[in-house]
Amino acid sequence: MLSEFDLIARYFTRPPRHGTAAVLGVGDDCALLAPSPGMQQAISTDMLVEDRHFFRGTDPIKLGYKCLAVNLSDLAAMGATPVAFTLALSLPDAQAEWLQAFSDGLFKLADEYGCQLIGGDTTKGPLNICITIFGELPHGAALRRDAAQAGDDIWVSGTLGDPRLALAGYREEIILDSASMEAAAERLHEPIPRVALGIALRGIAHAAVDISDGFIGDLGHILQRSNVGATVDADALPAGPTLIRRSQELRRRFSLAGGDDYELCFTAPASQRDAVLAAAHAAGTPVTRVGSIESGAGLRLTDAGGAPLELEPSSFDHFTSP
Ligand code: ADP
Ligand code: MG
Repeated sequence: MLSEFDLIARYFTRPPRHGTAAVLGVGDDCALLAPSPGMQQAISTDMLVEDRHFFRGTDPIKLGYKCLAVNLSDLAAMGATPVAFTLALSLPDAQAEWLQAFSDGLFKLADEYGCQLIGGDTTKGPLNICITIFGELPHGAALRRDAAQAGDDIWVSGTLGDPRLALAGYREEIILDSASMEAAAERLHEPIPRVALGIALRGIAHAAVDISDGFIGDLGHILQRSNVGATVDADALPAGPTLIRRSQELRRRFSLAGGDDYELCFTAPASQRDAVLAAAHAAGTPVTRVGSIESGAGLRLTDAGGAPLELEPSSFDHFTSP
């Protein structure tokens, strides 16, 4: 059986990389980071808990990928560039095969985004994975939730709802054929953090949030923090490639209030439409305009013809949702 220190050395320690912000990585009491001159640090923590965020027996490669992806998504939502992360891991046992696959999934994404693992903590216990991520961005450039203004357009990146459709398939709320299930499940397990888009939107977008608990709920955070309201065309929301083949009712429900989408919802002045499209093109991420910010509080939903729609049940909440 591996000891705690063998395990850290074997699976979570890699040679220091040249040209990164980490002056000292895994192995001492603290890691040391050297912030770039003129930059602010962006810091975020996200935890994945077995039976809560993922099913028991989930493929460890996918877990390694996803636990870092959801943290990268928070940096993306601020417009920050990833720098480094720490990993706090509680594990029922030290299984070599599981650890190898988990760290493969983790480092694949870490390398893709140039984000270095600089430390963490490892303990025996129920499976629980917690990452704290560090990024940076120029002073004052962060895309904050409190920065939306009346007259802004509301945009969404990529597509919504396929992860929620996969969950419905796993829970047998909906019966999906195996090709649909596979396609939707990939979106659930392998969200693409929209880091390049977040960075490209610096100086163009006003407010941004990443959609983790469902579009309505996460846009709601922007509305509340910015003290504004909005009108959204529910039928303009970009349904995922699998969801789009389902009924209008399901498309609306899962793209409005799905969860696990990890797309960006952001606002930008109407005068910046061309700049938003150019930024999206440069980042290789499609974006869709879905509504507008208004001074009157509250969220109004319409159909494609502008007729009002009943507000659907809102977003996922760990303490109040089933
Ligand atoms: P301490 O007792 O000082 O908190 P630990 O014994 O917990 O230190 O950890 C030893 C070193 O290994 C530290 O540098 C810590 O950051 C690192 N570490 C521990 N667990 C992990 C992990 N899962 N991933 C990366 N680094 C880790
Ligand atoms: Mg420790």
